[in-house]
Amino acid sequence: MGKFVSNMSVALFGGTFNPVHFGHLNLANNLADYLQVESVRMIPCAIPPHREAPSVSAEQRLAMLQLAIDDQPLLVSDDFELRKNTPSYSIETIQQIRQQLGDQIPLFFCIGMDSLLTIDSWHQWQQLLDYCHLVICPRPGYELPTKGHLAKWIEQHKCDDIDKIKTLAQGRLHLCKIPLKDISSTAIRDSIKCAQSIDHLTPKSVVNFISQHSLYE
Ligand code: ATP
Repeated sequence: MGKFVSNMSVALFGGTFNPVHFGHLNLANNLADYLQVESVRMIPCAIPPHREAPSVSAEQRLAMLQLAIDDQPLLVSDDFELRKNTPSYSIETIQQIRQQLGDQIPLFFCIGMDSLLTIDSWHQWQQLLDYCHLVICPRPGYELPTKGHLAKWIEQHKCDDIDKIKTLAQGRLHLCKIPLKDISSTAIRDSIKCAQSIDHLTPKSVVNFISQHSLYE
């Protein structure tokens, strides 16, 4: 692991984005700033291995994401996982991106605290840090585990010094303190079912797309 040129480092932010919302966008923009990356690659997953298949097609989730980030210069969409026809294992996406970057450039994989709590069920989860750093964002209602093998693993790899992490290509877990909006895709889907407005939860272009295609009704 070596030193690097800061603006070459890469941040990934994966999710179902069913649909994308201001919580995702706000967090991704703050991460770009905090990690000093040129952009954050937002990667919708095709077939989430841990979740029910989304009710809306992968193409529609990607289309909404692209509409949402159209005016967001720091955010880019990446359809890597949608181009595959196998389950989206994060380790495979990260390995592939690491291969493209070479072994010197810092790679940050950003997930919410809710995802960290189930990371030990992910395919080859203990190898994730061989390829990237994990940046954990707080999420209202979710706390760090305090006991068990996951707590131990977190403690072994945790590093609070973000400036130090930025000098390394991979291998650290960082808990960041970026404030989050209490919004979820579930809340959006539920609001639509109850005929409530979602204007304050996701950009207007996404609201229009949802209504034009009668999604989540
Ligand atoms: P759902 O309600 O369907 O579970 P979600 O709102 O959690 O969806 P996902 O697409 O599953 O959205 O989340 C992708 C990533 O974004 C996860 O790592 C999750 O922790 C994070 N995330 C989701 N909502 C927020 C939010 N409001 N603020 C910050 N991060 C979020």
